[in-house]
Amino acid sequence: MKNIILLGAPGSGKGTQSEHLIQEYGFHHLSTGDIIRKNIHDNTEYGQLCKKYSEEGKLVPDDIMIAMVEDHLKNLQGSIIWDGFPRTINQAQKLDQLLAKLGRKINHTLYFEIDESKLIARITGRRICPKCGKTYHLTALPPKQEGLCDLDGSALIQRADDSVDKITVRLAAYHKDTAPLVDYYLHQQNLTVIDADMTGHAVWDQIVAVLK
Ligand code: AMP
Repeated sequence: MKNIILLGAPGSGKGTQSEHLIQEYGFHHLSTGDIIRKNIHDNTEYGQLCKKYSEEGKLVPDDIMIAMVEDHLKNLQGSIIWDGFPRTINQAQKLDQLLAKLGRKINHTLYFEIDESKLIARITGRRICPKCGKTYHLTALPPKQEGLCDLDGSALIQRADDSVDKITVRLAAYHKDTAPLVDYYLHQQNLTVIDADMTGHAVWDQIVAVLK
């Protein structure tokens, strides 16, 4: 049972590669962004707590986020892809403690390194399926039928926080709170740098080489 963290700026391709990892290896996908969006959609208590932060591109406070992850972790047995969590040093320390209690640890941290000048185009062109969460891109990864999800035919939408003004806020949060995790996991000696500027196939090849 492995725990693999995907670390990187918004738009660096973590979600797309997670989809391949689930298909190829059967890993569970723990995406805190997806969990938050589902809670907001279902108007749960957690959803109400997260809504204003998430839609403004700000990080949800650690205590709320960690409680949501603890709840979610109770139902997961096998290997897990951690996508979008941890995002702060505090979350990373808490995750180490949670996993230690279960006799588990982080096996790999894959750090998606990317040229930031490309991120705005990547994120503004992103479209997602509101039902299953599958991610597309208008030009780089279009659906088979324009505007519709390949998997369930739902009409694709743009995320509320994928607008240019929200991306600036999200990138600032990434630099301030999340980028320090690169050093954190370098010290734990489980970090591999993935060149995320490459095509999706080439990024996938790098990931397979780490996991084999
Ligand atoms: P993502 O889909 O990973 O880009 O996440 C979308 C939004 O959900 C973020 O901009 C945050 O508002 C919130 N979020 C997701 N994961 C976390 C986390 N680990 N800590 C705090 N906020 C988070």
